[in-house]
Amino acid sequence: MKSFETLGLSRGLVESVQLIGFETPTPIQEKAIPVLLNGNRDFVGLAQTGTGKTAAFGLPLLELVDDKSRDTQALVLAPTRELGLQIANDLENFSEKFKSFNIVAVYGGSSISEQIRKVKKGAQIIVATPGRLIDLIDRKAINLKTIKYIVLDEADEMLNMGFKDDLDKILSFTPEDKATWLFSATMPREVRAIMKNYMSDPFELTVGEQNTGNVNIEHQYVIVQERDRYLALKRILDNNPEIFGLIFCRTRIDTQKTAEMLMKDGYSADALHGDLTQQQRDRVMLSFRQRSLQILVATDVAARGIDVEDITHVIHLNIPDEMEFYTHRSGRTARAGKKGVSIAMISKRELGKVKQIEKTLKSPFKRAMIPTGAEVCQKQLLAFMHKVNEVKVNEDQIAEFLPAIEAELKNLTKQELIKRFASLEFNRFFDYYRNAPDLNVEGKRGGSEGPEERYSGGARFFINLGKMDGLDVSKMIELIDDYAGLGKNDIGKIDLKGAYSFFEVEPEKADLILKNMNGIEFKGRQVRVEITEQKESGGSRGRSSGGRGGRSSGRNSGGGNRSRSDQKRKWR
Ligand code: AMP
Repeated sequence: MKSFETLGLSRGLVESVQLIGFETPTPIQEKAIPVLLNGNRDFVGLAQTGTGKTAAFGLPLLELVDDKSRDTQALVLAPTRELGLQIANDLENFSEKFKSFNIVAVYGGSSISEQIRKVKKGAQIIVATPGRLIDLIDRKAINLKTIKYIVLDEADEMLNMGFKDDLDKILSFTPEDKATWLFSATMPREVRAIMKNYMSDPFELTVGEQNTGNVNIEHQYVIVQERDRYLALKRILDNNPEIFGLIFCRTRIDTQKTAEMLMKDGYSADALHGDLTQQQRDRVMLSFRQRSLQILVATDVAARGIDVEDITHVIHLNIPDEMEFYTHRSGRTARAGKKGVSIAMISKRELGKVKQIEKTLKSPFKRAMIPTGAEVCQKQLLAFMHKVNEVKVNEDQIAEFLPAIEAELKNLTKQELIKRFASLEFNRFFDYYRNAPDLNVEGKRGGSEGPEERYSGGARFFINLGKMDGLDVSKMIELIDDYAGLGKNDIGKIDLKGAYSFFEVEPEKADLILKNMNGIEFKGRQVRVEITEQKESGGSRGRSSGGRGGRSSGRNSGGGNRSRSDQKRKWR
């Protein structure tokens, strides 16, 4: 393994880096730094997040940029404000004992005039998000003609976020003879197009196999019914008392709701999404970084580029549709050589997606079971006892109270004392989990039964989905199972039509259908179910659910009777 000294960096820079605590270069640093130090070659680095990319381009940049000139010589583009600030901060730290640079970060959501003022003072290195940089260009507040190096960090993310036009415009304002260094975790067609259009004969470096996940991430999935999603999430959190985790939701509304529910249930959680003001986002990120928050619930966009150390778990409340999103989400854990776990919460229908991700990442996924109530209790209890064992006793402070404590407890044996101590802490927890149901969904359903094999005479429902939506009998059963939690024995005759269908369920389960299936989305369509009173046609439909709580209300309410015990306020 090489050392930083052998990579061609100046002594001062090597010392700065060692002061930060980097002892040996990461693989991308080892390979990229000597090439980039040459200064005149375009470069493409294909590497996952968390591999040390910032120092890989940052150290050569600091070496090559002239601190005696006030011209803007280097431009680093990053997809998000958070990542931009982080890069600027890293560059400041790397250069502290080396050269005196004016490094300025420009990004949206903050005073543009203040940023213009800083740029005008002569920034040798500018770190920017594309949108804000375009604003500065339009206001003629920035001169890109003196740029010698441009770095496109997380290029795939910038393109994913719709910055293609902005990148084209920015690149057109920079001189022909600059060197372009591009870093990307994935290599979609759009990134190839940038390489083709704006780079000449780049040096290409792949760290790890392309699209191969970080080997330090353990990928797991759990299969849940739609209505149990939130309860299963709580189980996972309770089963990991020391979790420092990031939960991903698909939408801002789901993100906010999930965070609110967790907070209400006593967890140390908060939300990060685009509907928050910049100040709110900064506050949340600060608490998370400082670990006064244990759980951050975030959207994909808001959490991009987050580099918080030691995140133990990434939980996907819903598995993303895009492969890239999965890579970026799970890449928030297992950074800088640490280990981490990524848990995707999926419905049975989404098993195919897991297989697809598995294939692309070339990393196996392990099915994990949602812990039972008893397992959670044991985990919590042992974690607590471990804390008791580890606690630092302040002998001086406790000494004056000890005689009174001993007098009060003198009649208890050691064993009784332990039992009472544990009960005091855990009685409410045990109560909460005593009758908690198993939330695991069993293996794949067969689905060979035709409508004639199913019983008839239950509550009959109309649903606005049919064969045209790709449904057959087994898929319909899976849908009902996922959202309303009914087993195949609860479901009676299924009558599939083109654009709608009828199905029957045990009469006492009818409410579960109305409560959990109305308003859910299926292939982009909002689902409507209604009880029908006549058996033969869809003509006379009866009472509708009256509520359109839909997917989230079904999920939030915790669904049917068997989940009641889980709905009580969680005790911590
Ligand atoms: P990056 O991929 O640049 O976001 O870096 C990911 C994490 O690894 C950051 O927390 C860095 O501080 C850390 N890191 C980068 N290079 C090294 C190194 N050579 N030794 C130890 N930690 C590093």
